[in-house]
Amino acid sequence: MNNINGIHHITAIASDPAENLKFYTEILGLRFVKKTVNFDTPDVYHLYYGDSEGRPGTALTFFPFPDAARGSISSGEASTVIFSIVPGSFNFWIERLAGLAVNFNIVENEEKRAIQLSDPDGLRLELRSDPDSEAIPGWRGGAVNPEHTIRKFYGVKLFYSDFAATESFLSEIMNFRKISGSAGKLVFGSGEDEYRSVIELEKIQTSGRKRSSAGSIHHIAFRVSGDDEQLFWQNRLREEGYGVTGIAERCYFRSIYFREPGGVLFEIATDGPGFTVDEDLENLGSALKLPPWYESNREAIEARLPELKISN
Ligand code: ZN
Repeated sequence: MNNINGIHHITAIASDPAENLKFYTEILGLRFVKKTVNFDTPDVYHLYYGDSEGRPGTALTFFPFPDAARGSISSGEASTVIFSIVPGSFNFWIERLAGLAVNFNIVENEEKRAIQLSDPDGLRLELRSDPDSEAIPGWRGGAVNPEHTIRKFYGVKLFYSDFAATESFLSEIMNFRKISGSAGKLVFGSGEDEYRSVIELEKIQTSGRKRSSAGSIHHIAFRVSGDDEQLFWQNRLREEGYGVTGIAERCYFRSIYFREPGGVLFEIATDGPGFTVDEDLENLGSALKLPPWYESNREAIEARLPELKISN
């Protein structure tokens, strides 16, 4: 089967890389799994966070531009990263965030139990109580006790003034399952294994114009198991008339990119080879890793990047 297996990674824009690193490792307790550069613009870092090895389904990544201004949410934009926590960790996180002076809201209703917060750049985050995530072990070695760590992406929320075109694209082209729906909100599911995830489409009224800024999500990548499955999707999207890129070598995975009809940039990425391809598991994130084609420019690239000290 060539089905998409949920979210692979989510990439967002940040401002100060040091603040970003501090928040995701010291507050949220994710593992810093890779320090590299934007492969298309090597004077910007590409920072990867995730579980013990940055498995697909757990990887949140950032392009930090130190001077980036904050934006506002507009239609056709991914708005919120939703993480899974085990239900027994709900109160732990409330106490932890309060103790660390992080602002948050609690939402408890028939539909969900969630803690909503923002990162230092205003990126909206949600910690969702998710019984399914109990099957996934927590990372031992971070700032958060393993029984309470964030396990994976629960999903992502997308905002639209009108989501009809995206709705048919997700169900008819991407083969996502419609889980629930109402006039203002649709939930789709994708994937069969424990790293399956959801996409929530929500209707909003905005007059804002979409632009990349600190705190905004740049793209959402979805998982395929390997190269053959990726080719299948590249062909399928082309046959259906969607503009899709050639295959980009990202060293840790291979990628194709396209814009869904509502305007959000999507990527389809292979599960492998993963972050241990150029660094041992125990040393993930400890050195600046560059793709082979930039190695000869390492000195100049390092000189242009701001210093980023790793405390773990
Ligand atoms: Zn990506």
